[in-house]
Amino acid sequence: MQVEKGQPRLPGFEEEEAQRPLPPEVLFESPVDLYRRVFREVRPRTPMPEINLEFCRFANANSFIRLHEGRLELRLSDIFDGAPAPILEALAQILICKLFRKPAPAMYRHRYRLYLNRQDMRRSLHLLRQARGRKHLSGPQGEIYELTAMFAEINAKYFNGLLAQPELGWSRNVSRTTLGHFDPAHNAIILSRLLDSEKAPRLAVEYVLYHEMLHLRYPVETAGAKRRVHTKEFKAAEKLFDGFKEAKAMIEKLCRA
Ligand SMILES: [Zn+2]
Repeated sequence: MQVEKGQPRLPGFEEEEAQRPLPPEVLFESPVDLYRRVFREVRPRTPMPEINLEFCRFANANSFIRLHEGRLELRLSDIFDGAPAPILEALAQILICKLFRKPAPAMYRHRYRLYLNRQDMRRSLHLLRQARGRKHLSGPQGEIYELTAMFAEINAKYFNGLLAQPELGWSRNVSRTTLGHFDPAHNAIILSRLLDSEKAPRLAVEYVLYHEMLHLRYPVETAGAKRRVHTKEFKAAEKLFDGFKEAKAMIEKLCRA
């Protein structure tokens, strides 16, 4: 993203907000630099992860953040590609705070909301929704497997039916490396499209869904700078899956195929 030098024009901002002086670095950073700076502000002592940032053609203004294998992965709606630097900063604050389950400072939430509520932004979001529709955001019904019923079965069998159902869906891409993920920011479980296939045995799909459901049951543990996603309890619970070994073997086969 290129930001023009000199004049930080912030159309649509409330006056007081527009007059707030901006730290000079805000205007000359790449989005990745910006995330690095905000990460440091929010988590002064956590080791800096590698940052992967992508602007994606979503049908809305949603953005996703997660820490995965030591990398900070960001998928931002492309309506923010080229947004004014202070908006990107507000979004970065909101996402990184969300990742660490901290409330984002009100100033940033306010700035972000004002931006999305601007007349022109509302219009482009509306047009975006119409043009892109839901075809990229798949629901739980795949070609072969349907996730709502599968969730309910696993919930009844292993969780006494106590888990609240998050959004369920299939990834757009056939990923062989990420078979599933739970996105706490959006309370969604997404399974790789690789699994929505006749080649994927039902047991394998159920196992991946079960794994992601364990993330609902066992939230990430933080101890100082350490962050444990798959805790001891998590791993022990994972082994309770009926056919654990078979399912793991099926998945390995599927990913190697
Ligand atoms: Zn996991």
